[in-house]
Amino acid sequence: MEINGKTRTCGLIGNPVEHTLSPMIHNTLAELLGHNLVYVPFPVKAGQVAQAVSGADALNLLGLNVTVPYKSAVIECLKEIDGLAGNIGAVNTLVRTAGGYKGYNTDMEGLYRAMVSEGISIAGETVILLGAGGAARAVAYLCAVKGAAQVYMLNRTLDKAQAVAGEVNRAMGREVICPMALENYTMLPEGKYLTIQGTSVGLAPHAEEAVITEDAFYEKVGTGFDLIYRPWETKFMQLTRAHGGQAYNGLKMLLYQGIIAYELWNDVKISEEEAQVVYERLKGQFV
Ligand code: NAP
Repeated sequence: MEINGKTRTCGLIGNPVEHTLSPMIHNTLAELLGHNLVYVPFPVKAGQVAQAVSGADALNLLGLNVTVPYKSAVIECLKEIDGLAGNIGAVNTLVRTAGGYKGYNTDMEGLYRAMVSEGISIAGETVILLGAGGAARAVAYLCAVKGAAQVYMLNRTLDKAQAVAGEVNRAMGREVICPMALENYTMLPEGKYLTIQGTSVGLAPHAEEAVITEDAFYEKVGTGFDLIYRPWETKFMQLTRAHGGQAYNGLKMLLYQGIIAYELWNDVKISEEEAQVVYERLKGQFV
């Protein structure tokens, strides 16, 4: 692509950003669609997120992604926030509007599209959700909004799961999230559950770890979806497969959160064929 006077810029703010795959997603999409657009990572130092957002506005940046640790801190720098992102309390995408940026959370819809593409449904399901951090909180909303019958939210720190469950249940007007301590998985009724691994345990370089390792737990996992994609096959996925379950990693979630951001910035719809081209490129980084 020729970079010229009309090239639009998008980027990622966070710290660290050196290992991000987002430039591959967005620059591949720009190439496929013939858009005059570049996407670059911007490391932002602690305490400088407000300057970064106003600087981006001054420089006419079309859009930004936001990653750790600024997904909540960025909210007070926005002109407007999408309702769902406001409920979740985390923003990962800024879209330029007249007078400032509007914040969205595309992680959640990204996970949903990833699940749909794998033929996994949430509506009517009983779900086990491991974790109660930023990502798991978004997943809890996703499951509630998409009509899960019940979500057992298991977390090391029970208080955090209780706080998230209280919020989501109040917002939804039904007792859909049931908070539990991790070790109490033994109390779950017999069954094969859709299980979403939303803790940071098992992330490289700690690839040999899983938040629960007991066989008795994996007897209850029908489909296991790990939000982690480094390593390609996590310990949670290995244990799920060893007990006869289907297992998926989080790379498609990353792919689709990026695709939704690109669609918002450029007012386009990315086809499944185009998504597949980007996915193959991303996958090439791992296998
Ligand atoms: P976070 O807010 O820091 O939450 C971490 C979670 O992991 C908490 O529930 C925490 O439990 C639990 N945890 C951490 N260490 C633990 C341990 N030793 N034993 C038991 N539980 C432990 O992180 P996050 O932002 O939610 O991210 C979680 C994971 O999702 C990360 O690995 C991230 O890479 C992944 N993610 C993937 C995507 C994607 O696009 N695929 C997007 C977002 C996030 P406590 O509450 O007890 O501390």
